[in-house]
Amino acid sequence: MGTVMLGIGTSPGLKRLVKSKLGTLASGQARKKTWGKDSYDEAIAELSKLLSEQSNLEGVAAAKIKQITADLETVGSKGFNPDERIQTGFNHFKKEKYEKNPDLYGQLAKGQSPKFMVFACSDSRVCPSHVLNFQPGEAFMVRNIASMVPPYDQKKYTGVGAAIEYAVLHLKLDGHWWRQRDIYSSGMPHTVENIVVIGHSCCGGIKGLMSIPDDGTTASDFIEDWVKICSSAKSKEAVNVSLGNLLTYPFVRDSVVKKSLALKGAHYDFVHGSFELWDLDFKISPTSAA
Ligand SMILES: [Zn+2]
Repeated sequence: MGTVMLGIGTSPGLKRLVKSKLGTLASGQARKKTWGKDSYDEAIAELSKLLSEQSNLEGVAAAKIKQITADLETVGSKGFNPDERIQTGFNHFKKEKYEKNPDLYGQLAKGQSPKFMVFACSDSRVCPSHVLNFQPGEAFMVRNIASMVPPYDQKKYTGVGAAIEYAVLHLKLDGHWWRQRDIYSSGMPHTVENIVVIGHSCCGGIKGLMSIPDDGTTASDFIEDWVKICSSAKSKEAVNVSLGNLLTYPFVRDSVVKKSLALKGAHYDFVHGSFELWDLDFKISPTSAA
């Protein structure tokens, strides 16, 4: 090792390279300033030049480069630790929210009575709890590609159907689990008073919908078949198609007719930081869908 250090010490070009690399390891910001593409290319060129002039340094250089590579690999893998991120996140939540609001979490331990059911996209940038500041217990949520509500179908889309059924029929004010046959006779109002379908700007699902070829060929196992739910629609229209599809669920339609449930469309534009909310003017009768 001593001879290696000596070798490096006597080679100004390589010394600069190593120093630069160490600067990179020490600080990400330093990397941006001192380790831009130009200086990197420069350093590599300098190293090549040096080695072509002094081939006796090749062995030393090889060992040093190996070390630098290993160091950089370590830096890369240390950049993000998923377990640590989850632990830190939960610790923060527990200290700042859970332990500071014992009344709320005590209440939620007994049951939930959300006034909203929300459909939002799976997109990592549009979480309704963040965008609309929903607190735990406030919104019963379904997130899927392009926040779509498929029409009532007991064979397909059962996950979405189960969520709507649960939200509209089973979340009753007394928190009691009502069996299907007792639900209508129970007279107990459901806690969910609004279903909000939220679309958003730059939605990959909607982009996918618009790029499906007319010849019916597909290039994905699930995505295209899913987004075709709103095949007649683009962007905000897709939200309205979903609102219309909500009315194909008998229990939703009944509640809308009785005015115990409102359906709302929304669009969140994260590019401009705006949020639009609208009611769809349904013309429905108790016996037929809109
Ligand atoms: Zn989306």
